[in-house]
Amino acid sequence: MRLNKMAQQTQQSGQSNKIGNYLLLIVFVVLALSVVALFVAVETYFIGDIIAAGIFAGIGGIALAICLFLLYQYRRQATEVKIDIPKVMTTIECQNKGCANKTIREFQRGDYIFKDLDVACPKCGGKQMITAIYKEVKVKEKTYSV
Ligand SMILES: [Zn+2]
Repeated sequence: MRLNKMAQQTQQSGQSNKIGNYLLLIVFVVLALSVVALFVAVETYFIGDIIAAGIFAGIGGIALAICLFLLYQYRRQATEVKIDIPKVMTTIECQNKGCANKTIREFQRGDYIFKDLDVACPKCGGKQMITAIYKEVKVKEKTYSV
């Protein structure tokens, strides 16, 4: 009963994130089994069957270890997927020295530094030029918790 419930829960939560659905499901099933095995081990130990208790404890321990290993793998996979391609940004500056309006937009095909743009400055209507193209780096999201 308890096992079925846990499996259902993982199926439901697994639908929200597409990566590693089956892996998570397996992990939780193994986790549930290992908990059951350890529980049985404790019970058999109290009954007096130390050998059986040892076997169950061993099974439970191994299952738990596999489970933790898979979870670790899953977490690593999840963090790898999280790293998205950094955006390339283009800085456009107005060539009118009195204005010097600066706009930043996403890189578009054909952008290059010192390229004169046809689009006039939104502030003064002057000529605009691309002054910088760079890769946006998100420092905040960098985590090395694994
Ligand atoms: Zn301007």
